[in-house]
Amino acid sequence: MKLNPIYAFLQRARQLFLERRFDESYIWLKKAKELSSKSEDALFRAKCEFLEAQMLLVKSRYFSDLSLCDLSLEKIEDAELLISETTALDFRLEMMVAKGMAFLAKKENQKALDIFNEAIQNAENYGLIEQQILAQCAVSQYFINSNDYQASLNLLESIDELYEENFRDNEGLMSEILFQKTQVFLKMQDYKSMEKSAKELLQVSQTQHDLEKKLVALNNLSIVNSLDGNYRQAMEMLLEVQQKSRVIGHRIMTANALINIGTIYAHLFNYSDALNRYLTIINEYQDVLEPTNQVIILNNIGNIYFNIDQFDDAFSTFQKANDLAIKLNYREMIAHTYTQLSKTCLAKEMLTESLVYAEQASFLLKDLGDVNGKQINWLNQAQAHFMLRDTESAIQQAHKGLKLAVNVNDNVSLMRGYRLLSDIYHLRKDFEKAFKYESLYSNIQNSFTREQQQRQAIDLEIKYAIKEKQQQIEQLTKENEFQSQLIDQSEQISKQNNQLVQANEELQQFAYVVSHDLKEPLRMIGSYTQLLLQKMDKNLDENGAKYSGFVSEGVSRMNNLLDALLQYSTIGKEEEEKEIIDINDIIEDVMFNLKLLIRETGTTIEYGDLPAFRCLPTRMVHLFQNLIGNAIKFREPDTKPHIKIEAEENETEISFSVKDNGIGIEKEHIDRIFVIFQRLHTRKQYEGTGIGLAICQKIVLGLGGRIWVESKVGEGSTFRFVVPKEPIEEVF
Ligand code: ADP
Repeated sequence: MKLNPIYAFLQRARQLFLERRFDESYIWLKKAKELSSKSEDALFRAKCEFLEAQMLLVKSRYFSDLSLCDLSLEKIEDAELLISETTALDFRLEMMVAKGMAFLAKKENQKALDIFNEAIQNAENYGLIEQQILAQCAVSQYFINSNDYQASLNLLESIDELYEENFRDNEGLMSEILFQKTQVFLKMQDYKSMEKSAKELLQVSQTQHDLEKKLVALNNLSIVNSLDGNYRQAMEMLLEVQQKSRVIGHRIMTANALINIGTIYAHLFNYSDALNRYLTIINEYQDVLEPTNQVIILNNIGNIYFNIDQFDDAFSTFQKANDLAIKLNYREMIAHTYTQLSKTCLAKEMLTESLVYAEQASFLLKDLGDVNGKQINWLNQAQAHFMLRDTESAIQQAHKGLKLAVNVNDNVSLMRGYRLLSDIYHLRKDFEKAFKYESLYSNIQNSFTREQQQRQAIDLEIKYAIKEKQQQIEQLTKENEFQSQLIDQSEQISKQNNQLVQANEELQQFAYVVSHDLKEPLRMIGSYTQLLLQKMDKNLDENGAKYSGFVSEGVSRMNNLLDALLQYSTIGKEEEEKEIIDINDIIEDVMFNLKLLIRETGTTIEYGDLPAFRCLPTRMVHLFQNLIGNAIKFREPDTKPHIKIEAEENETEISFSVKDNGIGIEKEHIDRIFVIFQRLHTRKQYEGTGIGLAICQKIVLGLGGRIWVESKVGEGSTFRFVVPKEPIEEVF
């Protein structure tokens, strides 16, 4: 099968898109599109449009920019219009699924579902199982988006069966299925199953060079690692995700990685690094952050400030979190942030305010069931009452708080509660009880400190591991910058190339029109001069006859010039196909064409053993005929021309030489002779138009080669040209 170069461009663009190298992908897509605009192949043009639509859809997701989604939909519709209803059904279904995905992104869920179902129906009717599975995976995404995880899981099970029955190692399809699975298991907090699919997804995405899926797999695996206390592995994965998602411009994924990194640092009591990540998210990634996540992050930031005793900052941050939670009606977090505000007020010794916040929290917490945070609220109140010297209420509230803290395994609150009770009983001079709670407190405190030390050791370990990674990343970033510079350059070159191609085309057309259209008036001048001469035959004096001779000569010269120009302008427009040609045969053809001249001048031509290569035969005849013709024409007056044609080849190129024993060329003219209409002699000395070598140069350049001459006056000339063995894409 002959490989169509346009499809090869598109294929390359697709692969680069999968690797999320958008800029490079776009360059190839542009090349494909340029070619496609000239081609009649509507399916191909539609495929180009569709790839662009897919890029837009991905970008809309990365930047959470819905206007790109609309653009993508427009492109898909353009592509759909290009092909008829009955052709390329698999491609049409692929486009339908993408369209549904765009609606899903726009939160038009029902519309999306209708499209997916229609696609499934069609795929089933025509037995297109791959498309059926793709559309079903899209439905699974619909379920996940609608928080119906069980439905998604059920569907994925039946997809699995369908896959097993029909495919073995369709990795593209497999990665779609695994992608859905990891997502749904994560949402259902089934970490064991999630880990299994994420590991498989990591493997498949790596062989597929599907960067985005690889990053999703790494991100999810880091969550499992972090839950298992493998902070170091988790961190290494997250750093890779963060760095790569930043490079491909996936802002949502970068933000998520930063959140996870911050959370791990907070777990490891490395507050400064945690704070740094959280603040970056709030300051730089707010646009792609789910508002509810923003509340959680603000709350985490407040907690850190509190832990490092910056109570004013803690207070203002909890207040921001609280405002936002109220705006979003995010009840759990409204209650929680009131609790935090109350706790911070205690630290600032603002007792009345603390109790007001605590009351607001209690009011909301009542309706919320057994949520984490209630224990803190009780302890806040207990502490406030103790500070107000109401020890009775304080003791009651502290016990309520402690009970809940045991239930939710909250060691920090346990320590706080025991400490408080010990202080209260101390105040009441009940030293026995005070001692009891003091020792309960120090028990937990000891194990807590041990745990803290262990985690800090892990943090240190990570620091060293990261340093190494950081260096690798810096190296990578440098390489990336270099690559993007290269892309810029190549884009510029391709722009210039396009301009060049266009200029060339215009010139060619101009030359063609001029040479073609001028021939008609010239023919008129010629024939009417002829008529005129016939009529005036007798009355013409000597001068008259001379002048009319000039006219005829001029006409015939002009005719030759126009022919040559026409020939020059039509190189590259031949309908002929390239074929493997033995150059010995070409020389024989040339000798046949020039046999009169060769005989008259007694020329000898030495050749043989010339190679064969892929080219257009007529162009080769032109090339050699011009060179051999010149070698004969520019001979020394009393010497019989002798021409030697030789060739040498290496792995990639063939170089030819045509050597003569003619008059030679002066050094200063050597570059000039390849320029169109440039001649070194008068017509009287040597006939000619000055186009022959320009034609030779055009032919050689068209093959991707180069031509030059080595010569000495009186010793003859050697014309040399080198051409690549594998013909290149022509640039006429
Ligand atoms: P033309 O032969 O019509 O003059 P060409 O483009 O073929 O035009 O050649 C341009 C000029 O290069 C010639 O006019 C001649 O001066 C010089 N030239 C070309 N071939 C030879 C050669 N083999 N030996 C010496 N001079 C040559």
